[in-house]
Amino acid sequence: MYYRSTRGAKGSVTASEAILKGLAEDGGLYVPEDFPRLPGSLKELSELDYRELARRILSCYLTDFTEEELRDCADSAYNERNFDDPKIAPLRKLEGDFLLELFHGRTLAFKDMALSILPYLMRKSAEKTGLREKLVILTATSGDTGKAAMEGFSDVEGTEIIVFYPKDGVSAFQELQMRVQRGRNTHVAALFGNFDDAQSGVKRLFSDLAWRKKLRERGIVLSSANSINIGRLLPQLVYYIYSYGRLLSLGEIREGEEINVSVPTGNFGNILAAYFAKRMGLPIRKLLCASNENRVLTDFFESGVYDRRRSFLRTSSPSMDILISSNLERLLYLALGRDGERCRSDMASLSEEGSYRLTGEERSFLSDFYGGFAKEEDCFSEIRHYAEKEHCFLDPHTAVAASVLRSYRRKSGDDTRALIVGTASPFKFAPAVLRALGREEGGELFSKIDLLSSISGLAEPEAIREARDGEIKHSTETEIGGMRDCAERFLFGEA
Ligand SMILES: *Cc1c(COP(=O)(O)O)cnc(C)c1O
Repeated sequence: MYYRSTRGAKGSVTASEAILKGLAEDGGLYVPEDFPRLPGSLKELSELDYRELARRILSCYLTDFTEEELRDCADSAYNERNFDDPKIAPLRKLEGDFLLELFHGRTLAFKDMALSILPYLMRKSAEKTGLREKLVILTATSGDTGKAAMEGFSDVEGTEIIVFYPKDGVSAFQELQMRVQRGRNTHVAALFGNFDDAQSGVKRLFSDLAWRKKLRERGIVLSSANSINIGRLLPQLVYYIYSYGRLLSLGEIREGEEINVSVPTGNFGNILAAYFAKRMGLPIRKLLCASNENRVLTDFFESGVYDRRRSFLRTSSPSMDILISSNLERLLYLALGRDGERCRSDMASLSEEGSYRLTGEERSFLSDFYGGFAKEEDCFSEIRHYAEKEHCFLDPHTAVAASVLRSYRRKSGDDTRALIVGTASPFKFAPAVLRALGREEGGELFSKIDLLSSISGLAEPEAIREARDGEIKHSTETEIGGMRDCAERFLFGEA
């Protein structure tokens, strides 16, 4: 299997090259040259545990890795040390639908699903390609990726990681989690800007060829832990195939029966993984792309026009407060019939004019998707609904997906059973969950977390204690224009 850039650069690269580079040199994202079929019948795959399934799925894409290598990577990532549930991605039945809980990893958000394996994939890729330089992972975060990536790369030999997060765009708990991060090789800076500023800033550093040359002379190459990295995206296919298999084993569906999935979406990585799984043959009917009030994707699926010229809203689902969804570029490339030139010109128009427009035929390519959004009050009413009816406490991101599923059903009459993709633990966003429940009693963050624990009867995860007791280790702040200098200070000291 080879990978090509969405922006039309000639030539293709191997999986390990794509993983190491993160972003292609022309600024595009790597896409596999085709979609392999599922490596076995749904029934057979349903009998595998998470680790073995991960190995089987990844072996379809990472064809320059040996079986042994992939088994090592999957075993190192998906174990009891990193996940507090032996199923890794457990399912919970919710009124005829299913909550797919992707928040049992070390940082309480679904980013752990891919970021617990990415460092191992990168290390193996570095061995394969004979990389000599130090790998510096440059990452923008809307709150969850940063922590999960630092946790994954902390003290990994031959790597260093730098994270930029929007100063006022993450929750208090997310910020604290990052500031207490341990590891000699971890660096974090708060950026005076929003997530889009952080993400564009990181992409600019990637395309600053003079700077990259300077780094290389000092023995450094850059890579990314953002979902622009194909090594982030591919491990995310596994839990869709796994949960389908679990439904099959539990007798909840028949083999081949279609399901819908509702995915709380920001950068379009998680839902794109579901789409890749569908292209491999997983019976998914509709992919519900659930946005919060930053509804740029909802409008895109409704109108075929992507238009980022609007105000950026801060919501109670901050990890989805995004106006430029990077991974949509991969879907766009496919919708354009893998025409990299067209894709590049649409991306140029997005960055220069702020929008691009699809033709009718290209829009019909997107008919597997439905775009919907939830207002804050709708999101909160879902949190109340499931707490009262099922004693299940959704975090605000997951509640957005539940809300969009509800409105989709009302509009379409499509009653297909659905997976609601749960992307964060309610503890991670305890203040917002309590507000939704009408229990907004002053007090500091950790007394709110305690209150949520007593209302829900759920034990506080280990990550809560780590953040509560951790020592603050990072206090750097930077202007948008200062990201490059900031990165240099992290890498070379004050010089
Ligand atoms: C990152 C994140 C999302 C959005 O996922 P994308 O892959 O960027 O669409 C949703 N919810 C939570 C909790 C997240 O951390």
